[in-house]
Amino acid sequence: MTRQAVAVAPAKLNLHLGVGERGPDGYHPLCTVFQAVDLWERVTVTLRDAPGVRINVAGVGAPRVPRDETNLAARAARALARRAGVDVAVDIEIDKTIPVAGGLAGGSADAAATLLACDALWETGLAPDDLREVAAALGADVPFALMGGTALGRGRGETLEPLPVATDVWWVLITSDRGLATPEMFAAWDRAHGRLARGSTGVPGEVDRAGGTAGLSHAGRAGEAGSNVTPRGPAARRQLHPASPAEVGLQRPAHLIEALTRGDLPEVGRLLVNDLQPCALAAAPELGARLSAALAAGALGAVVSGSGPTIAALSASHDAAVRIAATLRSEPLACAATVARAVPGGAHPLLDEA
Ligand code: ATP
Repeated sequence: MTRQAVAVAPAKLNLHLGVGERGPDGYHPLCTVFQAVDLWERVTVTLRDAPGVRINVAGVGAPRVPRDETNLAARAARALARRAGVDVAVDIEIDKTIPVAGGLAGGSADAAATLLACDALWETGLAPDDLREVAAALGADVPFALMGGTALGRGRGETLEPLPVATDVWWVLITSDRGLATPEMFAAWDRAHGRLARGSTGVPGEVDRAGGTAGLSHAGRAGEAGSNVTPRGPAARRQLHPASPAEVGLQRPAHLIEALTRGDLPEVGRLLVNDLQPCALAAAPELGARLSAALAAGALGAVVSGSGPTIAALSASHDAAVRIAATLRSEPLACAATVARAVPGGAHPLLDEA
C-alpha cells in the first residue's frame, strides 16, 4: 500500500475583487478574477499508525502557521475523511513558499494540496465534483486553488468560470513581513461601505470603493498612482454605474475579461481593481508608496491582492518584471520583490515523488 503522497498548489492573485454587502449568512458575495501564479505550496501526507492529524510546517512564515486542528490542511484532511468514511491517521508536512496572511491564499493552497494527497492515499474514488464540494466548504479560495489558471469567481468565490488568457503574464509581487487579517479587512469594508451608502466619499482618511484613499494620495504621487492604481475614480465609476457601490462591485468585469482574452496587457493593467484595497491601505499605509513605486518602475498596473498586503504589479514581459523587481529591491524602498508567472493549472499530485 502507498504510504505517502505529495501534492502542490499555487498562490492566487485577484486581478479584480468586487465586494457586495454582507448577507444574512455573514459572508460577502464576491465577483473576482483569480489568477494562479507560480509560488507553489508543497504538501506531503504520510499514513501513520496512530489516529489523528499531525502537522509540521517549514519554509516561508512557518512559525506563524498553526500546527493544531485549526490549520486549514488539517481541516481539509478531516473534511475529506468524513466525506469518504475514512479514519484519519496522517502526518502532514507543509513546505511553504507563499507568505502567510499575504492575500495570496496560502492556507487555501495547503488545503487543496492536502485534499489531493489524501484522496490519492485513501483511494476514496470520489468524483471531482465531490472534491470541489469539500473544497468549497473549507473556504472561499480553496476551489480555485484546486482549479488554478485564470477564472471568474462568484458567490463566496466558489462558483468558478475558467477564463482564457491569450498571452504569458508576468508579475512582480511585493510582499510584506506583516500579514493583514482577512476578516478585519472585510469589517473595514463594512464600515466604509456604511459611510459610502450615505454618499460621503473623498474625505481624507475615508475610503472610496474604487481604490482611492487619502492614504494613497498621501503617498506623495497622487497623480501617478491615482491614474493607474485607481483606473476608475469613484466619481467616474458612479457616473458609469448609477447603482449602489455594493451592486457595482458584483457586476461582471467584462472589459477586464475581454482584455485578458485579447492578451492586451496594458489594458489589463489599467483595469486592475480591488474593493478591499482602500482598507488594506488604511491598515498598512506603507503600501501606497509601494504601489506608486511599482508604477514608477514601469509596471502596467498595480493592485493589492485580496485582503493584502501583497501588491501585484503587472509587467509587460519577463525582462520587464526582472527590471521592475530589481528597481523595487534597491534603496530607498528596499522592497521584497519576487517575479512570478501566471500558470494555467492548479493543485496537482507529484506522482514521481510519492
Ligand atoms: P485568505 O485566503 O483568507 O485571503 P491569506 O491568503 O491572506 O488568507 P493565509 O496565508 O491563507 O492568508 O492565512 C490566513 C491565516 O490562516 C493565517 O494567519 C493563519 O493563522 C491561518 N492558517 C491556517 N492554516 C494555515 C496554513 N496552512 N497556512 C497559512 N496560514 C494558515
